[in-house]
Amino acid sequence: MMPRERLRIAVQKSGRLSDPCFDLLDRCGLRFRRSRDGLFCFGDGEPVDLLLVRDDDIPGLIGQGVCDLGIVGRNVLAEFGGGALRSLRDLGFGCCRLAIAVPQERAYTGPASLAGLRIATSYPNLLKGWLERQGVAAEVVTLAGSVEIAPRLGTADAICDLVQSGATLIANQLREVDCVLGSEAVLVAADPLPADGRRDAIELLLRRVDGVTRVRGSRLLLLQAARDCVDAIVAALPGAPRPTVLQMDGEPGQVMLQALCPDELGWRQLEAIQRAGARELFVLPVERALA
Ligand code: ATP
Ligand code: ZN
Repeated sequence: MMPRERLRIAVQKSGRLSDPCFDLLDRCGLRFRRSRDGLFCFGDGEPVDLLLVRDDDIPGLIGQGVCDLGIVGRNVLAEFGGGALRSLRDLGFGCCRLAIAVPQERAYTGPASLAGLRIATSYPNLLKGWLERQGVAAEVVTLAGSVEIAPRLGTADAICDLVQSGATLIANQLREVDCVLGSEAVLVAADPLPADGRRDAIELLLRRVDGVTRVRGSRLLLLQAARDCVDAIVAALPGAPRPTVLQMDGEPGQVMLQALCPDELGWRQLEAIQRAGARELFVLPVERALA
């Protein structure tokens, strides 16, 4: 394969991970022009391009050296990834779990209840590994999609599928009973990482990803208060942040307080902080951080 100067990242073309992936890359300051056929995105500025593909293909594309990095669910990495890949960062979106579910009326007291059953899944490797670790012998029925209807069709007795809210299971009269794997989107790379100029682009990307994920959802709270009220105000702040307290010029006894809060600050929380003695409260979104 031709040596490449530019970093190439595989991302899901259209699906649950696409929008959050583009949002993350945008927050990392990467801008792209999309090719006519919609397969490539060419980076403007940084030497980073994207290849837009089906998520199942991402581990293989990295394994073959077609792409250097990829963003994919841990479930796909664990099912399709070989040994030559490593996960660099958990990205905090695409959260779901690969779960065992059984028809509402079927008794379940633990993995042993699955012995001898037919379990439908799109993740046969992960399911077989889990059954083995549980010491349970069951038949794994591999389906490409629509796993949740297999019990009603009579082609399986239970399923092993991705679940987020559980609404799909309920709609299909299934009940979640066990968890095979907790998953979220991860940034994966070939192992070892490329040793040439692409390495610098990877390090730049990792620093920026960290700068974005560290403060995702955080808010900067600014307020004024009498110094006597600071303890009560700090006690009312969510997530126990360590605030900065600044003396206000020409107003002894008055301070300005700033705190990075890990969660959104809702009206009720703000009102509680106000009751603790705060005035002039401002809540600011935090976009990125650099230590
Ligand atoms: P593709 O056409 O790229 O193969 P897909 O249908 O396999 O798409 P999506 O349904 O878009 O994939 O899911 C992509 C990833 O999103 C999953 O592999 C998983 O990591 C994550 N995910 C989060 N919540 C769910 C959910 N409720 N159901 C399925 N996947 C979920
Ligand atoms: Zn897929």
